[in-house]
Amino acid sequence: MELVAIPGQSPRGKVYLIGAGPGDPELLTMKAWRCLQLADVVLYDALVSAEILALAPEGAEMIAVGKRAGKHSAHQDDINQLLVTKGFTRNRVVRLKGGDPFIFGRGGEELQSLVEAGIPFEVVPGITAASGAAAYAGIPLTHRDCAQSVSFVTGHCKLKSEPLNWRQYADTNQTLVVYMGTLNAGIISRGLIDAGRAADTPVAIVSKASTPAQMVMTATLASLPELAASSELEMPALIIIGEVVRYTEQMNWFAQQQESQSKLQQYR
Ligand code: SAH
Repeated sequence: MELVAIPGQSPRGKVYLIGAGPGDPELLTMKAWRCLQLADVVLYDALVSAEILALAPEGAEMIAVGKRAGKHSAHQDDINQLLVTKGFTRNRVVRLKGGDPFIFGRGGEELQSLVEAGIPFEVVPGITAASGAAAYAGIPLTHRDCAQSVSFVTGHCKLKSEPLNWRQYADTNQTLVVYMGTLNAGIISRGLIDAGRAADTPVAIVSKASTPAQMVMTATLASLPELAASSELEMPALIIIGEVVRYTEQMNWFAQQQESQSKLQQYR
């Protein structure tokens, strides 16, 4: 699609492509926070929490452009066009995305549109869901004893027609984080086991990571499909696969803290 710039006009503003982190507002960077407070208009994704949106100035125009797996509320082309239009007509345009804009966030495509239209921009990185989930679930993504590398992959809806090269992820000594993968848990589990990864490899599904509603469910690679089908599972959720998942029992400080807080509430 050709982007429509405004003929005879030069862009008025600047677009800030900002990562909002995985959920906890305190995981915003100071730069993201500062840019958001100065915004004239905010285009935000479905994954950005209400608490974070509340940091924008009262008079800012707030536009939801969120997409959810299977339910497209706005097409990427339309979002690109809207960004360009706002770049021509407003001073400080904030494009707010969940996690980090360059990790499964289509931030690259949006920047290409801005470059084509000659609109100045800045990118503010965010804490990606894998880092947030790992930290708040007590799962170190690498560990000298058992995980020398970590890969982030997408388990999106095309996994069936465009399979991943599972052999690349079959090594015991690596952690695999699958974004958008719970609907394809069967394909992921089978693919990895067929490629040689042990069926009893520990896995975790972390949902609503870093929010008070975070939930960590664990199983083995073989039983991942049942875990993903659990009626308790809420979105968004990601899958962590590898020996490091065992540490959650020792290191899940977030759950311990929440538990002690709920006990305190009970005593009051
Ligand atoms: N750019 C984002 C990822 C967008 S893709 C980032 O860097 O985090 C959307 C997927 O991210 C979701 O389907 C889910 O797998 C994962 N995700 C995002 N926020 C999450 C959260 N708070 N808890 C668990 N998974 C999350």
